[in-house]
Parts: sequence; C-alpha cells; structure tokens
Amino acid sequence: MALEKSSQTAALSFDRNIVRNIGLPFVARHPPLARREAGYGKTGCPLALENNFIRRLAAATRTRPPVLTGIGDDGAVIQDDSGSRQIVVTDMLLDQVHFDLKTTSPRLVGQKAMLVNLSDLAAMASWPTAAFVSLAMPRHGIGDADQFLDGLYAGIQDCCDRWNFCIAGGDTNAWNGPFAINVCLTGRPMHSTIPLRSGARPGDRLFVSGPLGGSLPSGRHLSFPPRFDVADWLVGKGIVSAMMDLSDGLATDLPRMAEASGVGAVLDLASIPVHPDVDRRLPMEARTNAALCDGEDFELLFAIPAHLVPRLRDVSPPFPVFEIGRVTAGLGVTIRLPDDSIQPLRQSGWQHDF
Ligand SMILES: [Mg+2]
Repeated sequence: MALEKSSQTAALSFDRNIVRNIGLPFVARHPPLARREAGYGKTGCPLALENNFIRRLAAATRTRPPVLTGIGDDGAVIQDDSGSRQIVVTDMLLDQVHFDLKTTSPRLVGQKAMLVNLSDLAAMASWPTAAFVSLAMPRHGIGDADQFLDGLYAGIQDCCDRWNFCIAGGDTNAWNGPFAINVCLTGRPMHSTIPLRSGARPGDRLFVSGPLGGSLPSGRHLSFPPRFDVADWLVGKGIVSAMMDLSDGLATDLPRMAEASGVGAVLDLASIPVHPDVDRRLPMEARTNAALCDGEDFELLFAIPAHLVPRLRDVSPPFPVFEIGRVTAGLGVTIRLPDDSIQPLRQSGWQHDF
C-alpha cells in the first residue's frame, strides 16, 4: 500500500501559549504493558498528573461556538450554523505503552488504534464518518517499513470497512523514538441526544455494559467490540443521563464522570462484574480490584434516572447490563463492601495493601 503524506490537520488542536503556561505532563516512566501499576493510566502518564492537566487546560480554555462541548468528555461536539452537529475524538497510542511491537502484529496495532477511538464515538452515541491517521515512524528497528505499513493499514482498513467510513487524511513523520500512532475520527450522532459525562444526577443508577478486568494480560485490549449497539439502543430509548467508555478502569473513570457531573457516587462491590479473563486463582479481593483498576475494558459506563430503570427492565435490552451502584449528592466516590461498610474508592481500588 502506498502511503501518501498529507498535510491535513486534525480539528482539535491546543493553543500553544496555553500549553506553555500551564505546563505539559511528562512521562516519567511507562507502566509495564502486562501489569498496569497503580496510579498510571493508559496514557502512560501518572493519573493524578493527567487529571490535573486536563482540569487546568479546560479551565484555561474558553469554549467558543461552534464548539458546544470541548475538553473533558470522550469527544468534542461541534455544531454548524444549520444546527448540524459533528463529533470529533482523538487518541494517541505508543509502542511499549499501549502495545508491544515485539509481540503484536502491525495489523492488530492498526486495529487497536481505530477501536479505541471508535469506543469514544460509541460513548458519544455517534457513528464514524472519517479518519485522520498520523504516524511517528522510528528511523531504525521497525524492519521492512513497507511491510509494516501494509500490515498497519490493513488493520485500519478493516475497521473502516466494517463501519463504512474512510481515511480522509493524516500526517507521517520519522524520528529516533519509538513508533507512535494518533487517530482522529469524526462522527455523526445516532440520535438527537448526545450523552455526555456531565449529565449524571443524584439518585441515578449506574450501569456497565460488560464484565471488567484482565484485558491487558489476555490481549483483549487489542481486539474488542466498540459498544455502538448498546449506545444506539440506550440513547434511542431516551433513558441515559450520562455515559462514557471505560479506558482507564472503573476506579479512575467513574470519578471522572462524577466530577464532570458535580456529583458523588457509591459502588456496590458485590455487583461489580469480573471478567473471566481475570485469573480465577486470585483471591476475591484481588479479582474485584482487577475489575476496578486494570483498565482498557472499553465497556460503557452509564447512568439512568431511577424512575426510568423499570423501563430498562421491562423492555429487556438485547445485551447484558450490570447495575453497579448509584449517583449521590455531594462529591466523592465510595464503595460499599459486603459487610455494608463504606470505603473511599481510590485509583488503586479499595484495598489497603494491594
Ligand atoms: Mg473515552
């Protein structure tokens, strides 16, 4: 496959002066791919640093029309003069952080780079319309570059064909660092309502669309179904108050939804579904902590007002849903243990020594 360099730029960009003033996070060290260290997210940045950076960037950036929803959600919402809305999502993946090229085929890497962005579009209940793919190619150590790129783009094209959209541009550079790929997708909303992280209200019930944990050691993080069907059904029924996808783990992502909504939440430990990929030989505490903290599940986390939950039960959704807790007034996310005691939920889960 011939790779043409394009000078098209993604729709999202930072104001360089703002970034300089607030300071960019730096990667002190990468988490090992097979076992994510507590406190490190899928970005490879310490989570507290990443969260603070996003808060400061959002505070320093005034959202202006045509941007309706900017920094801090799974995607940006842009509305033109005719009222038509477009979603833009972007995500960058790095060798040795999000995949390992020593053990992962270029095709799977290309596929994952698309899937993580498609998952963000699903969280915004939107279908993909175009892809912009940018690469940082290592000058050495990649082997046959043509063969590598053919495999990479085969994985990307698989996703384009499956969801009926195309690559519309991108950029390619070479350097002495590791391989990196950034994908930016545009999308169109499935319905008139676009679910955001900020819509959860006290009393809402919290759900996830599938069991959690074990994604990295099992390799599930390389090949998973973005939950378009779940988003389409839920938002079409008009019962969702807030939604996001789970990329960094429930223990990290639920507090992000709670903060965006200005609410708190309480999880019910016994209700958290543990994925079969989590080692069954582990003690129960370690298994539930894996479900809370492993990350890269790419299931949907969503809130439904309590009075609409019976509607969810009555019509029996054509996919599994798991009720895991509820939204509370006030700030802070806690977890209810089987003995009915309540503990704060931390990014490392709920155990004291894990
Ligand atoms: Mg997301």
